[in-house]
Amino acid sequence: MVQAYHIITFETAFTSIEFMHENIYHFDNKATVVFSNSIEPKDLAVRFGANANKISHVKTASTKDDPGYQSIVTAKFEKVDKTDFDVFADGIVLDESNTCAVIYTADCPSVTLYEKVSNRLVLAHSGRPAMTPNNKEGEPITNIITLAFKKITEGVQNPKVSAHITGYICAEHFEHIGKEAELLIRPFDQFGKIAFLNRERGQLDLPAIIEHQLSKLGVPKDSIKSESICTFESPELESYRRDRSSKRNLTVAILH
Ligand SMILES: [Zn+2]
Repeated sequence: MVQAYHIITFETAFTSIEFMHENIYHFDNKATVVFSNSIEPKDLAVRFGANANKISHVKTASTKDDPGYQSIVTAKFEKVDKTDFDVFADGIVLDESNTCAVIYTADCPSVTLYEKVSNRLVLAHSGRPAMTPNNKEGEPITNIITLAFKKITEGVQNPKVSAHITGYICAEHFEHIGKEAELLIRPFDQFGKIAFLNRERGQLDLPAIIEHQLSKLGVPKDSIKSESICTFESPELESYRRDRSSKRNLTVAILH
């Protein structure tokens, strides 16, 4: 079930209006994902049931040269200061009750895969770099989605995976024009026509690719939920494409 709350707070009558955005998704009563523009990840995590000392702040990779690019690791909880990071990775596994992982995005989809048999989840940063296939042409596609699925189903007989995709920039607003941009999107042609809304304009459709990949991996269509909120079009959410700013939205995943 998806619940959207839009709480409007008027701090003073004329000077400041703050729009709070929280999209909440529950994997039954086993796990929760919150997508928010909050700047207080710890408060948010604790409010949704996380142990305050078990919050893993994850620094994801913005390019393939950044630490942790396309890597998936088990959560660590070393830092308590919200300005520091516990892990450098594009995917993080939670396997303990009341633990939490936080990633920061500003247009990239975040994907949570919950596996029912082992009661574990993986939260994966699934923007263009992590989603870029890293296989050789003609070989089976590997990217953050195949890696996350492999990680979460490892050693599980008859795994039961369900998925949630947070808000992201829609394909219409995610154009790639010019030679340099073309090099970034070319690997996505391996997915065929579904990868682009309009190939000429390089309108890369990451959520369509994610859903396509998960379906091919055997996740039932009705177990894949997508928030369908465009960060570029939602003024209360951060969007790098729109503002070129360093502000980020939060995705908080909690295993209950
Ligand atoms: Zn849009």
